[in-house]
Amino acid sequence: MRIDLHAHSTASDGTDSPAALTAEAAATGLDVVALTDHDTTAGWEAATAALPAGVTLVRGAELSGRWYGDEPTVGLHLLAYLFDPGHAPLVAELARVRRSREHRAENTVALLNADGIDVTVPEIRRYAAGGTIGRPHLAQALIRRGLVATVDEAFKPEWLGRRYRLAKTDIDVFTAVRLVNDAGGVTVLAHPRASGRGHIVPDTLIAELAAAGLWGVEADHTDHSAADRARTRLLARDLGLRVTGSSDYHGTNKTVRLGAFTTDPLVYQDMISTATGAAPVTGS
Ligand code: AMP
Ligand code: FE
Ligand code: FE
Ligand code: ZN
Repeated sequence: MRIDLHAHSTASDGTDSPAALTAEAAATGLDVVALTDHDTTAGWEAATAALPAGVTLVRGAELSGRWYGDEPTVGLHLLAYLFDPGHAPLVAELARVRRSREHRAENTVALLNADGIDVTVPEIRRYAAGGTIGRPHLAQALIRRGLVATVDEAFKPEWLGRRYRLAKTDIDVFTAVRLVNDAGGVTVLAHPRASGRGHIVPDTLIAELAAAGLWGVEADHTDHSAADRARTRLLARDLGLRVTGSSDYHGTNKTVRLGAFTTDPLVYQDMISTATGAAPVTGS
């Protein structure tokens, strides 16, 4: 059984539509794929409707979380699976973060304009096409101006990685874990040691999150070295957390392929027997 628990679609910053993502899962020989768009469940319905025979969809999201108790604050990504998408307090928090992303995109465009780079908000919105707006959509504009060659280059410090990187208002991470649990879902801390995105998530914070109801942690991820993976597994064992592996597929916005990393079927079975907010669906 091949299980990939982290993939993005055009509902956020991936380039495959939710339907195309499920087709890609079938073509890649995956048995299970999770749709985890940033701060939204907008792709769930289309992905469910398009499911190829024999492919199981785990409906999820990747929440923009933050620990505000340290200075500087610690940004992190929290994968949430099989939660009730109608749970009002969670729906409200996701909507608030998406609005913050809109404001950040507008402010980033203003910053670029002030430096003589003539990108526009409507253009960025066009690349987001109604999905959760993110820096990869700003990257598309920089590529079209010939300022960078690839999305990866657009994330260098001179561009969206630092100079044109603005803060957004993320969900307090302890609130996020509690809301997902209240909504019947399970949470997995995404790529905790992906230092290329900023700071790694401190082990002490992961321990506190485990005590607060975090279910698992992503160890096998393209942004983790072999040492990062081993260390994440050891920490998970100490804290009683489950370990997942996944691709974090973004279509052509990233080079990693769907199914590049996978999750142990026993961990997946544990997940689906724990979650009560939504069930996995299998195409017939
Ligand atoms: P945002 O969520 O808007 O802050 O943008 C960050 C997103 O851009 C992440 O979720 C990544 O999936 C994506 N991304 C694509 N390429 C890179 C890169 N080279 N470094 C960091 N993030 C990247
Ligand atoms: Fe992303
Ligand atoms: Fe992420
Ligand atoms: Zn992701």
